[in-house]
Amino acid sequence: WQACVEQLAQDLPEQQFNTWIKPLAAQVSEDFSKVTLHVANRFKLDWIRAQYAGRISAVLEKLYGQPVQLELAITQRENSTRTYSTPSVVAANAPVAEPTDIEEDAASSAFKTRLNTALTFDNLVEGTANRMARAAAMHVAGTPGQLYNPLFIYGGVGLGKTHLVHAVGNRLLADRPQSKVLYIHAEQFVSDVVKAYQRKTFDEFKDKYHSLDLLLIDDVQFFANKDRTQEEFFNAFEALLAKKSHIVMTSDTYPKGLADIHERLISRFDSGLTVAIEPPELEMRVAILINKARQENAEMPEEVAFFVAKNVRSNVRELEGALRKILAYSRFNQKEISIALAREALRDLLSIQNRQISVENIQKTVADYYKIKVADMYSKKRPASIARPRQIAMYLAKELTQKSLPEIGELFGGRDHTTVLHAVRKISAERQQLTELNQQLHVLEQTLKG
Ligand code: ADP
Ligand code: MG
Repeated sequence: WQACVEQLAQDLPEQQFNTWIKPLAAQVSEDFSKVTLHVANRFKLDWIRAQYAGRISAVLEKLYGQPVQLELAITQRENSTRTYSTPSVVAANAPVAEPTDIEEDAASSAFKTRLNTALTFDNLVEGTANRMARAAAMHVAGTPGQLYNPLFIYGGVGLGKTHLVHAVGNRLLADRPQSKVLYIHAEQFVSDVVKAYQRKTFDEFKDKYHSLDLLLIDDVQFFANKDRTQEEFFNAFEALLAKKSHIVMTSDTYPKGLADIHERLISRFDSGLTVAIEPPELEMRVAILINKARQENAEMPEEVAFFVAKNVRSNVRELEGALRKILAYSRFNQKEISIALAREALRDLLSIQNRQISVENIQKTVADYYKIKVADMYSKKRPASIARPRQIAMYLAKELTQKSLPEIGELFGGRDHTTVLHAVRKISAERQQLTELNQQLHVLEQTLKG
């Protein structure tokens, strides 16, 4: 074990080593086949299991020359009022049971972080689409309570917002295990408010929320029309900012785009840093696929990843779904992963996509959205109220269908391909600059993708 610790001291950043590995107490079985690591509480146990168990096992195996069974146990305090019994031992890869009757746990179960330790910065692929949001989130995790408070992250479904906020919490706790961190979905916050109201336990509610060092609150659009909740959230918000605790929020839209939320809250949301997560671009989708396949111990050839990424464009959750199908199909049929296999595995998905997104469909959807006539998509009219939606439709046609520029021009009343190219360039540039346009495009894309 000592040799293992020395190896890890070399492999890991000093901070991580000192926080997580150094405090471990190990117990080695008589025949050396098993190492039990004792940790102070459940959070540490979860974290070590998620982040370090694999690495520790690998080092032990290398040193010992054959696999060593690794177990994690929660140690009881010496001064516990309960009689000392054997620690609750769990295999490093087994799910942990609910808190036992250990005092330490009773204390920590009153406060659960609700963090999913599997969602970290390490397994969040970076790309143009999430670079800003990721950088801001890492900054907050590293130096909470300073810049970017609150950090407001918005974007469409399945783009990694929830993953990102968990990553902030996990990183902060890894560096500063004493911090009080809470992840909560906005709906859960609503129900906490309701409960506190019914049971008249607002003091407890306040103790819980107002004492945090980091509050991660997900999908705040769910506060819409919940007046009482908004008021309580406002109070918590003010209390936390006053004591320089950090708040990270997510939502499906930017603050001013939120419906049915009090103006004073919206202006608070917008008072730190607001960043968007965009749908991942092609290369990022490819990287995500290859990465996730590796996590599942499968190799996805790059050409297959490109094929899938070109066909599954909406969000990461769908990419994951496609990957699962391909892996299952490959395992079940005992065939290597190839383009042909991917095409076969995703047959239903691909046919739905091809059926749904046609240029006609885009023209109709865009015309409806901007309240103009579909006929104006082909007309020669040039007022901005018509020309702009038409350019947006051309842009979407290029993005969402396989049609070439001349083909698209043809479908827009016989326009030249340079007109289409101009529209595509203009809208895609403006999209980077104008939050509102970007948001409208997200809505249109989601609508078109069903
Ligand atoms: P959202 O909260 O925006 O709807 P999630 O955070 O739930 O999205 O992400 C959906 C799924 O995609 C999750 O399994 C998440 O881990 C994964 N995911 C999203 N973005 C990335 C990324 N950049 N790299 C790796 N996995 C990602
Ligand atoms: Mg989410």
